[in-house]
Amino acid sequence: MRQSVFVPGHRGPAQVEGEVACCLFHGNRVFITRDGGRPALPRVDVEFYGIALDTAHYLGTLDGIPCYGMALPHGAALPEGLELLGMRALILEGDELAAGIAGQAFQLLEWARTHRHCGCCGQPTLPHAADRALECPDCKLVFYPRISPVMMALVYRRNDNGSELLLTRKAGYAEGRYTVVAGFVEAGESLEQCLAREVKEEVGVDIRNPRYFGSQPWPFPNSLVMAFSAEWAGGEVVPDGTELEDARWFSIDALPDLPEAVHISRLLIDDTLAHLRKPR
Ligand SMILES: [Zn+2]
Repeated sequence: MRQSVFVPGHRGPAQVEGEVACCLFHGNRVFITRDGGRPALPRVDVEFYGIALDTAHYLGTLDGIPCYGMALPHGAALPEGLELLGMRALILEGDELAAGIAGQAFQLLEWARTHRHCGCCGQPTLPHAADRALECPDCKLVFYPRISPVMMALVYRRNDNGSELLLTRKAGYAEGRYTVVAGFVEAGESLEQCLAREVKEEVGVDIRNPRYFGSQPWPFPNSLVMAFSAEWAGGEVVPDGTELEDARWFSIDALPDLPEAVHISRLLIDDTLAHLRKPR
């Protein structure tokens, strides 16, 4: 399969005619085409669908073609030959590039939809002249795309019988599946403070030696997940009764069902397992 090249950018060309690569949304779903069975971003004729590019979000170029995130206008005919797919399905089935671009478009459209007026004086906002932002023409307040930082923690411990991971499940999570601890960063909090607080609140234990693993944007609706592993430092596991249905230690040789590999939580678990299985 051909590997696409995406070059991000936020200032589109002054004029576009004919086809553009697009993340064209209809509600919460995006139109896709299939490339060897896998979902791919389609190209559409902007004029045919009556899409005004000044309401679209320029994302960059995809294989040299301008790429936009946009919503199908109300009353417009559904594009023929394209399939509507939910964002979660695109993340699970699609390649990382298509899912990433569509995730960005989804977040930008949602941000623009919810920032049409100034939160201070109520005037309609306008695109900022230089940045990807909206600006109030009256009081000049600037609104950047909203990003909500989320801290994720995989707590582990080593003992005489081997190593264990502390995993949790929320009510309504897939049957039998467990995952890591996660929560939103609060205003005024450092990432380290958030990590310690979230773990303490959700499962009642203390941690030490946090180790950064990686990050992942998660567009439901605007999270940026930062994943850490951390060593257990003390305390008995007491699951927070409101958020969690269960939390417990699992031997690394008898783990439950885990999240799919597209989630950074799973990549964090796999990386930590590799680290714990290394001879010391
Ligand atoms: Zn204002």
